[in-house]
Amino acid sequence: MTEAVNNTQRNNYKPDDAADVLIVGGGPAGLAAAIQLKTERPEAEICVIEKAAHLGNHNLSGAVLEPEALHHLLDTALPDWQNSTDANEVLSKKVVKDNIMFFAGKNIAVPLLPVIKIAAKLHLGFGRMLHENDYIVSISKLTAWLGKIAGDLGVEVLTGFGAEDIILSEGSQSAAAIKLVDQGVSQDGSRQPNFVPGEIIEARFIILAEGCDGLVTEKFVQKANLERRAPQLYSIAVKELIKVSPQQYKKFGTSRVLHAMGYPLWSPVIGPGIFGGGIMYPEADNHLAVGIIAGADFKYRDFNPQDALTNFKNHRFVKKFIRDGTIVEAGAKMIPEAGYYAVPRARQTGSIGQANTLLVGDGAGFVNMLKIKGLHNAIESGIKAANAVSRAWKNPSAAAQSYTGLLENSNLIKEMRIARNFRQTIAKFGQLLGFPLSSLGRLLPIFRIEPDYQVMSVKDYRHKPTVEYDKDTFTAMASTQHREEQPCHLTIVNTDICSRECTTKFHRPCITFCPGGVYETVHDTVKPANPSNCLHCKTCQRKCPFDNIRWTCPEGGGGPRYKQM
Ligand code: SF4
Ligand code: SF4
Repeated sequence: MTEAVNNTQRNNYKPDDAADVLIVGGGPAGLAAAIQLKTERPEAEICVIEKAAHLGNHNLSGAVLEPEALHHLLDTALPDWQNSTDANEVLSKKVVKDNIMFFAGKNIAVPLLPVIKIAAKLHLGFGRMLHENDYIVSISKLTAWLGKIAGDLGVEVLTGFGAEDIILSEGSQSAAAIKLVDQGVSQDGSRQPNFVPGEIIEARFIILAEGCDGLVTEKFVQKANLERRAPQLYSIAVKELIKVSPQQYKKFGTSRVLHAMGYPLWSPVIGPGIFGGGIMYPEADNHLAVGIIAGADFKYRDFNPQDALTNFKNHRFVKKFIRDGTIVEAGAKMIPEAGYYAVPRARQTGSIGQANTLLVGDGAGFVNMLKIKGLHNAIESGIKAANAVSRAWKNPSAAAQSYTGLLENSNLIKEMRIARNFRQTIAKFGQLLGFPLSSLGRLLPIFRIEPDYQVMSVKDYRHKPTVEYDKDTFTAMASTQHREEQPCHLTIVNTDICSRECTTKFHRPCITFCPGGVYETVHDTVKPANPSNCLHCKTCQRKCPFDNIRWTCPEGGGGPRYKQM
């Protein structure tokens, strides 16, 4: 895979060149927007800023891709794209064998595919979980490839730039600029010799494509007073890439994906009762990706998704493929699961964004949990954002309304509407009742559900492994790094709450569920003691049961360095 281009060094960047279009976030949604817009308006000055050191470094997914949106994007931008080496590498694996299973305990695997196929014939919601003919992709590689295409088209792609705020124009609903993170500040807040103030980049259009729970996106949602009809619900995904023997790899096959519900997250009546499941799929050169996606509305105070991953890997069906394998990469991220009702919209107009500012991809919440996919929607929303910006070129404040109009007539919103009650119904009624109930689809009302952080209980996870998960190795495999001397980018708002309320009731769960092992008890006080280990998953600020943690963006270039996730 060719390295992402235009990794412009910060010192070379000239912020006085205000962009026509500024895209915050160089993931699939942001890059799709950049590529599409450059195709429609070659003269446009488009700048993509990405906080990761290299494109793809902060992108992680159990990615099964419905390819239509990608085809749509590239057929216009790069007619010969299917013959390129990168295309052949990124899209080398098509799903032929779709293993959808229910794991009943540690040893039994029950195929669910026939049930899902019947459900599909009956047009029931969960009949949409099929993956045949989709592509199995590494999202890191896909992102790096899209970045290369964008760069070749003339988009300025700047990596290592963290954004911390959005500046709205006075007296107007439009946004004027994005403020970048200062560089070279010491832990006590003083300026070091290498201090560079965070530039303010102005733009006529701003597309927020930061991914799940984006810092600037959420600030914009607040500043512009956008509303969600239901709270966003998240899941935590942890994943390992394991090098296995050629025999194991061959036995698994290069065109199979496994999605398994049940153990170790859920079993009827006796519990545990966590929404989600395990995934397994092949990567290049004898590597298998194995992961767990656990709903962040879990109630167990000692639950750690990595423990569930350990259990999943030890399930008889999984173990035979990975036994004696070597972990070569690992990572964690959150996924926005709540769907249609949790998409932030302007109160008056219903637009997904406001005036000249548009929300795309996971940052808007375009993940379809009925399909267990969102990548196709990320790309589709990027395309639609570009279409809207192009239409509103001379009248930027009309862009968000135009974008929303295009989305409302798209497959994206159509499928989000079909899935609109799915996750809420399960959050409300649990899986045993919620799954069948969700089939009623549009007949169901919007249920009142609580945000993830409010549902923690004093219960414990009944499949806790006896050996503690090795988080140091996990973060080493994520290659996460930050400049040690900078201020901590994680804040515990009120440490009294930790010691007075959380310790006795929930036993300080941030220490357990943070996949990076960032939180520790130091002299009887909970602290983000190891911020350098942070994987930027943001689980802590969504799952601390007292809503007591704030994540801000560290200096650009920090964080994980995924290459094949
Ligand atoms: Fe509990 Fe949150 Fe304090 Fe951690 S930060 S100890 S989860 S209150
Ligand atoms: Fe994720 Fe928070 Fe831990 Fe960082 S500190 S790895 S954002 S849970």
